[in-house]
Amino acid sequence: MTLRALSELSAEQARSVEWLAFDLDDTLLDHGRLGLEAFAALHALAAGGVRLVAATGRPSGFAEVVARQWPVTAAIAENGAVAWTRDETGRVRVSDDTSDELRVARRAELLAIAAEVRERFPEIDLADDNWARRTDVSLDIGEHRRVPPDTVEAARALASSLGARTFASSVHVHLTFDASDKATGFAALVRRLGFDAASIVPNAAFVGDSGNDAPAFAAFGLTFGVANVRTHLSKLPVPPMFVSPSEMGTGFAEIARRLLELRS
Ligand SMILES: [Mg+2]
Repeated sequence: MTLRALSELSAEQARSVEWLAFDLDDTLLDHGRLGLEAFAALHALAAGGVRLVAATGRPSGFAEVVARQWPVTAAIAENGAVAWTRDETGRVRVSDDTSDELRVARRAELLAIAAEVRERFPEIDLADDNWARRTDVSLDIGEHRRVPPDTVEAARALASSLGARTFASSVHVHLTFDASDKATGFAALVRRLGFDAASIVPNAAFVGDSGNDAPAFAAFGLTFGVANVRTHLSKLPVPPMFVSPSEMGTGFAEIARRLLELRS
């Protein structure tokens, strides 16, 4: 399946977008930093009536800040395991059906698995954002470390053999016992907000770049990759429908601009 250029997006497709979920690292963010163009694009989409949902593998604690400060309806964290939303009183709260006690116990088990992985593959480090995580433990493969792809796959296989599910983004490998992903996390979020997920998800848009976005590329009705998605196509059973000319935050802004042009 070939990736289509943004110019091939139809006005009908653009007008159908009520919800847009987006990845953070290397999609909205440029190597971890939020650029002016990308942040302006978020505000323009929100002003254009699009409900925005950040969907990241980053920690629950980061998503709380996004939900509090950015023009979004919600922020999904840790690859779908939890989401932060604003309630009717204006307070931002996390949704997690699992108790704090069980979360603490599970993280201890995941840290033990991470220790075994790091003992076998010393080039892999713990990610520096684990302090803000609630449901998973993350390993640095591309943020401050450069770990070869075959080592990443071997580390994931070891973690799986020890009982963890794994996700790989462009920067991290995540170890978790949760069954969620960005697509099921989005569906759970819209249900909690009182909408019918079965009708929302097939009509919602998603923008992403790498392997942990694969479930969303397969589930959402309208999908976009930023240009750097091309380097991750081998990890995407279903590729995005459209691709932006530019990488990361500039690519996100191109997608937003095209959507808004066609809707006006
Ligand atoms: Mg990403």
